[in-house]
Amino acid sequence: MIRHFCKLSFVSAVLWALTVSAQQSSFSVGTATATSGQQATGYIEVPAGVDAATSIPVVVVRGSKPGPVLALVSGAHGTEYASVIALEKLIPQLDPAQISGTVIILPLVNVQSFLQKVPHVNPVDGKSMNRFYPGKQDGTQTERASFLITKQVVERSDYLIDYHGGDLDENLRPYSYWPKTGNEKQDAVTRDMVLAFGLDHIIIASDRPKDANASRYLDNTANTRGKPAIAVEAGYSGIVQTQDVQALVSGTLNVMRYFKMLPGTATMVEHPVWIGKIDTISSDQTGFFYPLVDRGTYVEQGMKVGYVTDYFGNTTFEARAPAAGVVLYICGVPSMKKGDTVANIGEVVKNP
Ligand SMILES: [Zn+2]
Repeated sequence: MIRHFCKLSFVSAVLWALTVSAQQSSFSVGTATATSGQQATGYIEVPAGVDAATSIPVVVVRGSKPGPVLALVSGAHGTEYASVIALEKLIPQLDPAQISGTVIILPLVNVQSFLQKVPHVNPVDGKSMNRFYPGKQDGTQTERASFLITKQVVERSDYLIDYHGGDLDENLRPYSYWPKTGNEKQDAVTRDMVLAFGLDHIIIASDRPKDANASRYLDNTANTRGKPAIAVEAGYSGIVQTQDVQALVSGTLNVMRYFKMLPGTATMVEHPVWIGKIDTISSDQTGFFYPLVDRGTYVEQGMKVGYVTDYFGNTTFEARAPAAGVVLYICGVPSMKKGDTVANIGEVVKNP
């Protein structure tokens, strides 16, 4: 009886040791530290410099099994609400017991944009929080935040997804970006990431800076550091639609299945619409803007997509599509300043 008990306890000790060795050590980002099988919240504290300090909320989900580190970042533009809400909705759906690897979530990078309802920029320094990567330790708030996100999130991740959408003034249809860097191995992974994410319109972005020290965009900061990353967009005009939020949440879970971070098989978009070139139509007049097409409309070359009047109602500018394609987004408000974007038209190309 005693011998039998000893044998059993030896077996369970071995099993216990195997289980422990398969677990992961703790992982910290900012003030959030999660041990294996745990989820933790905290902040990346951006100290004061030439302007005010800020705190960027962060969640670390440390899976109970080993695997890659995936970073999910939203709210660089704090009024692209659907993308921010999508990551909020995702947080309770990530069960550490089910996950192999680690997920870092930054649901709202640009807190002041969100609170003050200021589109496009960080109202503290007037800079877009997706144009100043890899950031500067002694720069303005956007640059200091970008510097810490590069160090604490990008450099410690294996993969990254950056979430955007139509801002308060942008009537946008959902799409993702496939960053084509020329590095075949990495491009194959990011191609699978956009196909697994599931948005059926994909922009081929081959014009991103190659210099890691002047990477500008967050996804490009990861890609120039050898970490496959994509950007995705859904939502528009300050509206939070369930279907946009759901597309971003289910796309993320499917990418996690693709990376074997979640059980199950990833489904891939089979026949997406590939966009090879974006034509930006800018207004050459200041005044009132009237759209004539909706987001997602397919237009022919020369088709009128909207017009601008002066403050007295006289038409001063007709916006026409320079080429055939799909309206990726069109200005969603009457305010129009000379030089502002009226619409982005995506030119469709064959499967690249
Ligand atoms: Zn954005």
